[in-house]
Order: sequence, then structure tokens, then C-alpha cells
Amino acid sequence: MIGGVNMSKPGPLHVDSGHAAALLAQASTLATQHHVDVPGGPVTPPADVAAIRARLAAYDFETARCADDVFADVMDLLRSGMVHTSHPRYFGLFNPAPTWWGVAGELIAAAANPQLAAYPHAWAPVEIERHVLRFLADRLGLPAGSAGSFTVGGSEANQTAVIVALTKHWPDYAQQGVRAVRGRPLLYASAESHLAWVKIAHVAGLGRQAVRLVPVDAAHRMDVDQLRTMLDADRAAGDEPFLLVATAGTTGAGALDPLPELVTLARESGLYLHVDAAWGGSVALSDRLRPLLAGVEAADSVTVDAHKWMSAPMGAGMFLTPHADALSASFDVRTSFMPDAADGTLDPYASSVQWSRRFTGLKVFLSLAGQGRLAFARQLERDVALGELLALRLAERGWVRINATPLPVVCVAEPDVDRGDPGLSRSWHAAVADEVVRRGRAWISSVQLAGRSGLRLCVTSYLTTERDIDLVAGELDACRALS
Ligand SMILES: *Cc1c(COP(=O)(O)O)cnc(C)c1O
Repeated sequence: MIGGVNMSKPGPLHVDSGHAAALLAQASTLATQHHVDVPGGPVTPPADVAAIRARLAAYDFETARCADDVFADVMDLLRSGMVHTSHPRYFGLFNPAPTWWGVAGELIAAAANPQLAAYPHAWAPVEIERHVLRFLADRLGLPAGSAGSFTVGGSEANQTAVIVALTKHWPDYAQQGVRAVRGRPLLYASAESHLAWVKIAHVAGLGRQAVRLVPVDAAHRMDVDQLRTMLDADRAAGDEPFLLVATAGTTGAGALDPLPELVTLARESGLYLHVDAAWGGSVALSDRLRPLLAGVEAADSVTVDAHKWMSAPMGAGMFLTPHADALSASFDVRTSFMPDAADGTLDPYASSVQWSRRFTGLKVFLSLAGQGRLAFARQLERDVALGELLALRLAERGWVRINATPLPVVCVAEPDVDRGDPGLSRSWHAAVADEVVRRGRAWISSVQLAGRSGLRLCVTSYLTTERDIDLVAGELDACRALS
């Protein structure tokens, strides 16, 4: 005892293993019950922020409260206070119903709590992640020896691509930053690409104007001729193009940029080619769908999010590159307080954006190990089939398709409204999407594609069935009549 502190036993936060097991059992019961309850309720409950704040005001954290009360409060807040992305009729923004293997992975990763910054601190967790990354790199056809890391999400993976591309293109960038470049460094992505690029360019010190958005063709794929014209003009003006981003599965339309042509162009023009396949990259797990990514094997780097079409709980991005050396050159740093790397291994903190890092890869490893690649392949193929069914049902009801993709994103417009004033069409489709969401039976969004407005529906949940497709089609009709 010093100063009345009992140091002979574990500290005040300690809970014995019997109580810990009971606590986690209670949490699992509530989490599984949540999934039983969600499909029976609205996808989007009405938001009542004042009520939430009033409820939270009761927590001043001065005294401990019993598990039953706290859990009941939290589960109720979650049930009534969020868009239920795990609902079978969430036709949304790639946010999946998580696999239970993935949820179990989150629990075990949190409990073991390895520190993945340094290899010698967590050699088995780092090897587990490496194994999953290698598996994905193989499915994508990237060369043996490809390296990478798990990231929080696609944005961080894409940011990694920009840093690696700059470092590879201009070795002086590492020490001097963009001052090492005489002209303006520019990157090229399609007008339909994920606009995190703008933020990334800002953060990287390139400035938002460094993102050159290339017009798209009628199928919302990057227009390669226009890209050539832009590159020529920018070079003539003294700018320095360095990075070409191909999107394999755009957020709005699910468009796949023409990878083989972009690979050729990138080679000819000495550009680094990054493939942003955050959502679409998962099709690499299906032999039938893998050809949609033809060309990706020649990429300088690739982004894939397991928390999208691999149904991992958020977040689980992945960055892969054949240029392990450029990855190290980009993030290398040594400090006296970190353990030395073991021979032949890459320390995650010295080869990625993050320093302390959680064991993100375990949930993906467990899902693949516990369910097998073929289950993922069949799920992806089934989602594609459900997307085709959805397109058919909406066409039967007189909606006109405004996107073209083999992936399960269906964008449709009301033909009469579509032919009219673009501003009116935009507000009309937004009002229909709002009304569908307000009614709570499904979640959809409105979208603008090359100046045309419509409704966007994406099959994202493994719980979605034919019945849900019919139901959402009915909802669109009901709300079309109201608007
Ligand atoms: C989702 C997505 C991103 C952003 O990824 P986050 O995981 O949300 O950070 C980037 N690009 C594409 C194509 C995406 O679908």
C-alpha cells in the first residue's frame, strides 16, 4: 500500500473472467437480437436528435451504471437512431450487412488487442494480415512479392496511392515535398470517380486543383480520347501529370473504367496507374466475375474495401502494390523507441500511413476461413443477378435506366421528368428518394450522372431477396405517384 492504494491485486478497471464472459454473452445476445429486429422495422427511423441528447444527458459518468440499463439504452439508441445499413432493403452506398464471422473477428481483435505497428510486437497478427493481402493480390493477378496494408477505408488506401506515386515519380519528393517538382503535379480521375481525391490532393499538399476530372462516355466510363487531349494540353502548359486513377466500380453508376486501354496509356505516358476498386474489386473472388477487372494485374497499386462488397464490418480497406520498395520509401521512419524490424519483414508503421494500428485483417481472415471463397463468389454472383432482376422490375414499371454496368447498381429516371427541365428533374427525383426513405420500407438515394438525374439503388446486403426487390420497386411507384 502506498497512499492507500492497494497494489497487490489488479486495478479498478479489472473485471474477473466470469463477469467478462457474462458481459460479452449479453452483448452478443443483444447484437444478434438487433439483427432479428432490424428487418421488421423501418430502414430509416425518424430522427429525433433532441430526444437522443436528453437521454445522453443522464450520463455524467460520475457513477457506474448497471450493464442491463446501459446496454438497453445503447441498443435502443442504435435501433431508433441510424440508417440500418444491415437491413435487407438498404439499397445504398455499399455499406453491407456484416458477416457474423467478421463481427466475431472484431471481438477477438479487440480482446487480444495486438499492436500492429511493429512486426516484433505482433508477428502472428501481421502475418495473418499479410496472408489475406497476398490472397487478394493473387486473385487480382498482381505479381508475387506485392506488398500492402490494411487501412481504415478506401480513402486512406487512395491517399497511400498518391504518396507512393509521388515518391516513385520524384525521388526528391520524400525530402523536398512538391517543391521538388518544377511544374504542377497533376492526377487524373474520371468525373464519376470518388471525390475523396479532392480531399486527398488537399492533404497531400498538391492542392485541390491538382485533380483533373476526365469526362466520361455514355456508359460513365473514363473517356480515353479526352484523357489524351487533357494530358497533351497540360504537358504543353508545363504541368506534370504523374498519376492516372482508374475507377473499377464508380459510386454513382457502378461504371468500370476501360482498364486495358488505361494500362497502355499509363505505360506510354510514364504515369503511375492506380486502380480504385474500393467496391468493385471484390469481384476478384468470383471466377465468373473476375474478367470484369481485366487489366488490374498491371496496376501500380489497387484499393479494395472489404467493408463494402466483402461484407466485413467497417472499416477494412486494403492497399496493394507490386512496388514494395516505393511503399517503404514513402513511409520509412526510424525511432529509438520502436523495436527493430525483424530481417525480411516490413514494419507496418514504416510502410503505411498509420502508426498504432488495430488488427483490422482478422475479421477478413475469419470470414474467408470460416465461409470460404466460394461462398463469397456465390454471394457476389447472386447480388449481380438480383441487380438484373431489379433493373427488369423497374423497366416493367416504366422507369428508364440511366446507367449501364454489369454490377448491381441500378440508376433509373422517370421518362417524362427526365425529358424535361434538368433542374426540375433533379428536385423531382430527390423528392421521390426522400419520400421512399421517409416511408421507411427501403433506403435509396438520388443521383446525378453527367447532368441527368435519377434514383440510385444498389444491392448491398446478403439478406436481400426477390421479395425485397419487388417491394422496393413498389415503393418507387407509390412515391412516384405522390410527387
Ligand atoms: C467507398 C469508396 C471510396 C472511399 O472509401 P472509404 O472506405 O469510404 O474511405 C473510394 N473510392 C471508391 C470507388 C469507393 O467506392
